[in-house]
Amino acid sequence: MRRFDLVLPNSLEDCVKILAERGDRAKLLAGGTDLLPQMKNGVIKPSLVVDLSGVARVRQIHGGNGQGLRIGAAVTARELEVSPAVRGAYLAIAESAALVGSLQVRNLATVGGNLCNAAPSADMAPPLVTLEAEAVIAGPKGERRVPMAQFFSGVRETVLAPNEMLVELSVPSPGAHSGGQYLRHTPRRELDIAVVGVASQLTLENGRCVKARIALASVAPTPVRATAAERALEGQTVTPELIERAAGLAVDAAQPIDDQRGSIEFRRHLVRVLTRRTLVTARERASH
Ligand SMILES: Cc1cc2nc3c(=O)[nH]c(=O)nc-3n(C[C@H](O)[C@H](O)[C@H](O)COP(=O)(O)OP(=O)(O)OC[C@H]3O[C@@H](n4cnc5c(N)ncnc54)[C@H](O)[C@@H]3O)c2cc1C
Repeated sequence: MRRFDLVLPNSLEDCVKILAERGDRAKLLAGGTDLLPQMKNGVIKPSLVVDLSGVARVRQIHGGNGQGLRIGAAVTARELEVSPAVRGAYLAIAESAALVGSLQVRNLATVGGNLCNAAPSADMAPPLVTLEAEAVIAGPKGERRVPMAQFFSGVRETVLAPNEMLVELSVPSPGAHSGGQYLRHTPRRELDIAVVGVASQLTLENGRCVKARIALASVAPTPVRATAAERALEGQTVTPELIERAAGLAVDAAQPIDDQRGSIEFRRHLVRVLTRRTLVTARERASH
């Protein structure tokens, strides 16, 4: 590994100042579970590593009681997995966090690291898309907000400039009678990444669907929303036949590739199956 300087700012302001001065050569370190292997393999060679562990603002979870949720970028997958505030109305986020790596990995891995690393298979992205979270981003000109669906710009690319950082995720309350789920398929049960991941979120009113959101992982360079499937569900009673039709429409939103972990055909099949399953569960959870 190449030599690098390490700084440990203890406020967001200091962090932003450091990035303004040396952002083009710097990398933020949260849990390090993506960053350190990439540095060891020589894929990236920052001359400065900025450790976020002393920045309180990015390590907290706020809200959750019908107020909306604010999740600091350096909150760990394990914290999300067990947080009562998250497990309440935002269960799909906790489910996605619980699937990351092993317990040891989850104790380090953060939601911000997962999103900013921007792997197409990132598990924590799809539920944040379906729950319409916004990324709160800090830079030299202050803070800006970007809807999660627009945060990713390509494989391992986001809208973040080198002098910007993700501060937190702002997740609006889904309201009453809303339910969601995240499921993924991996060839191995543990320590594997998603061949396909699907998050669905449904909001019901008098038995009809008033809002549907479906997001797919690992079937395109970035997470994608299955908007035609969402439109088919909205305004309708969510019957098994309609779920089947929506699952078919979700397949059309996927642009998967063939690789050693799954063929295009297999991935399209998984999108149909996982969309169907997550919609069935989302409908059940929304009905309570
Ligand atoms: C054994 C193993 C198993 C894994 N399994 C899974 C899995 O099942 N599912 C999955 O999705 N991932 C998995 N991962 C990948 C990884 O653990 C996750 O992506 C994790 O959430 C990354 O978080 P981190 O805090 O470790 O990020 P880091 O490695 O610290 O950072 C990742 C990237 O994000 C940048 N970054 C971090 N925080 C910020 C911020 N606040 N603002 C701007 N940039 C920032 C860093 O500079 C770096 O480029 C696995 C990794 C390992 C090693």
